[in-house]
Amino acid sequence: MTGQDVCSFSVLMPSPYKSKPYPLSNYVDRRVLMSVTCRYCKRRHNYLPADLIEVFGDVDADSVALRFKCDGCNSGGTLDVDTFTPQGKEAVGLRIRRLVSVKIKRVPVWKEE
Ligand SMILES: [Zn+2]
Repeated sequence: MTGQDVCSFSVLMPSPYKSKPYPLSNYVDRRVLMSVTCRYCKRRHNYLPADLIEVFGDVDADSVALRFKCDGCNSGGTLDVDTFTPQGKEAVGLRIRRLVSVKIKRVPVWKEE
């Protein structure tokens, strides 16, 4: 076996840490909330999976972190997403960020005639 063979073999190896996609719809109806926390400014919001589906579609739960932008420090890529089921004391007075509406941005497209 040459050095080159070893190299091409390792490139074809599947990534060991990437698990199967886990769509957000798996969390709906299970009283699971998703918390999104900014590592930078520590701002945290709790969301209902159903609201996130409304915005992003039924995407992989892991990918939610990449789709959000922190509205505290306006940075992207610094967010941690966790799922949890509020119980007992934790559930009392827990604030959940609900989706009010989705604004569609109108972008004009021009053409010279
Ligand atoms: Zn932040």
